[in-house]
Amino acid sequence: MDSAEIMKVGLPKHIAEEMIAHAQEEAPIEACGILAAKDGRVARLYRTRNADQSPVTYRIDPQEQRRVFGDIEAHGWEVWGIYHSHPNGRGLPSLTDVRRATLPQVYYLIVSLQRPEKPLIRAFRVLGGHILEEKVVVE
Ligand SMILES: [Zn+2]
Repeated sequence: MDSAEIMKVGLPKHIAEEMIAHAQEEAPIEACGILAAKDGRVARLYRTRNADQSPVTYRIDPQEQRRVFGDIEAHGWEVWGIYHSHPNGRGLPSLTDVRRATLPQVYYLIVSLQRPEKPLIRAFRVLGGHILEEKVVVE
């Protein structure tokens, strides 16, 4: 995966807006949640509780994650992404984010509120300790 080619990942506008709204409501605590896709396209956003209740880390409660994953499976959807916010930081994964990003098949999205007037969403995948960024296209 050394390709310099920039991959793109599409995000429906209402999902992007919901992620940003969630981030703004939880600030200064990091917000987090799970995105489900139907036929490869994000169809549903699940807000989850940040068990860390921290302004610099997030952790989805394992029981809540199991429940959401079960709901996604029951609908025949797929777990597409896990998002969280950086209320004061840039949209780059922290070392803790990378260490905890254990699902290779999902996108990890970060909503940065560093510039409050211009929230930014970035998408990453973590494969074998390597971070790959894919450009988010809101559509
Ligand atoms: Zn983070």
